[in-house]
Amino acid sequence: MSRAIDLRDDASVQAPHALASDVAAWQTELARAGAEAIVARALEAFGDTIAISFSGAEDVVLIEYAHRSGHPFRVFTLDTGRLHGETYRFIEAVEQHYGIRVEVGFPEAAAVTGMVRDKGLFSFFRDGHTECCGIRKVAPLQRHLAGLRAWITGQRRDQSPQTRGRIDVVELDARFSGQAGAPLVKWNPLARLSSTDVWDEIHASAVPFNPLHARGFVSIGCEPCTRAVLPGQHEREGRWWWEHETSKECGLHLDLVAEP
Ligand code: SF4
Repeated sequence: MSRAIDLRDDASVQAPHALASDVAAWQTELARAGAEAIVARALEAFGDTIAISFSGAEDVVLIEYAHRSGHPFRVFTLDTGRLHGETYRFIEAVEQHYGIRVEVGFPEAAAVTGMVRDKGLFSFFRDGHTECCGIRKVAPLQRHLAGLRAWITGQRRDQSPQTRGRIDVVELDARFSGQAGAPLVKWNPLARLSSTDVWDEIHASAVPFNPLHARGFVSIGCEPCTRAVLPGQHEREGRWWWEHETSKECGLHLDLVAEP
């Protein structure tokens, strides 16, 4: 039987070696667990120091699982200023469906202003998405995660075999830090699921979903950088299609790109 690990009042969260050992224990405990059980375990362990990262797409199932767990839970999203109107309305629909308030992070106005003044509104088509994503997504995420000890993402291995094929359901975040610069635990409850699994759950649970999915959009991000894909095309072909496949991470999980 696994020991009960609860980091909410545990000073060992500051110690990387202790946290790494807890992560290893969770990986063993959850080796055969379903996504719903993994979400519940994450919330149980971290209480109000963990939050679900919600992109406004199919990762809504994470909110459904958190809701079912009976634990209080936090949800945050990043408003880059370039999202589809449908995504903003979907976030509102999710708030109303679950009776929650989604915490919304925004980019720093000065950084966006400077970039747009110097390079225009669509510089990412000319020199790649790294700078724009850095300002509009990565920096706001970094600020948000600095207030947490752990986060829950909707990453799945099948989203990009090149960059996400080896993610685990729980791991130490290799890129971002948490409260007071301490290591951050990253939970990926959907890692082992396929897109079909997730959509089966969305339909079975009557969960609200982004209407863009019904128009051929699979992976949904910012409006200029997202396009619908044809049946049989991989979902990542709808994101940053003008760039090489191994560059197709927005920086939120950039550690994955560095994998050999
Ligand atoms: Fe900018 Fe496109 Fe990245 Fe959105 S996805 S932050 S518009 S480069």
